[in-house]
Amino acid sequence: MKVTFLGTASSFPTKDRNHPAILIRYGPDSLLFDCGEGTQRQIRIAGESPMKITKIFLSHWHGDHVLGLPGFLQSSTMNRRSRTLHIYGPAGTKERIQDLRKALSVTLSYRLVIHELDLKETEVIDEDDGYKILAIPVKHSVPTIAYCFQENDRYRIDKSFVKKHNLQGHPILDKLHEGKDITYDGKKFKLKDVTTEVPGKKVAIIMDTEQIVTLPKFAKDADLLICEGTFSNKLKDKSKEHGHMTVKQAARIAKKAGAKKLVLTHFSQRYKDVSELKKEAQSVFKNTVMAKDFMEISI
Ligand SMILES: [Zn+2]
Ligand SMILES: [Zn+2]
Repeated sequence: MKVTFLGTASSFPTKDRNHPAILIRYGPDSLLFDCGEGTQRQIRIAGESPMKITKIFLSHWHGDHVLGLPGFLQSSTMNRRSRTLHIYGPAGTKERIQDLRKALSVTLSYRLVIHELDLKETEVIDEDDGYKILAIPVKHSVPTIAYCFQENDRYRIDKSFVKKHNLQGHPILDKLHEGKDITYDGKKFKLKDVTTEVPGKKVAIIMDTEQIVTLPKFAKDADLLICEGTFSNKLKDKSKEHGHMTVKQAARIAKKAGAKKLVLTHFSQRYKDVSELKKEAQSVFKNTVMAKDFMEISI
């Protein structure tokens, strides 16, 4: 699995930072989280394919997170896209996309399925081959959602077992991969005796929100916690007033969650250099990285 940061600014883009968008490549497909203005071009520069994107998850309807969407939809038609595209977003997403399409005469060569999420608590909103997506409502000035990519646990079959019973390539091994006990040659084999469980990777993506108590649980044990850190703690009051978090607050979530790594993003344009913000966050959570446009993390 590879995570690519396509935009790490907040409301204003800078010379080095574009508006928010994060791409997760998993197997043959890609998932896009937010689609700020200029995301199409960032995808090209990153060497990724827009046609591989099967799902777009929108955190909320503020321009910095969605202004790239109409262009993406239109270009996909011009590229003769035929694959279905799924868009997930907060309540009102259907109407807003209809309005954008109408205003900009966006035609579609493919099926567009819009999933409106009206969440009260954490919910599994999508299950697919090898992973599921969870979502939770957060607190911002408009309805906003944080997402989590959770890979399914896998079972690695012990080589010695396969060799001993001459089972190389045998279809019964599929059952073990699915997490089931098997009976072979009249003998029962328990899953736990012949496999090693490999826990799935977890990536939590928390965009615009104030600090809220539900977030550490949502991000619990994440391999990667990607979190907005718009302001320094020196602007704590301003941060809350605008429905955002300081880097220190984000670091506290990472610490409470027991995350393995924290990546901060969505920086205010006032920070030309984010090294002070990094120090601030690291005083709470050591393994903090500051996102940059086109930064890639493989997990
Ligand atoms: Zn934002
Ligand atoms: Zn916002």
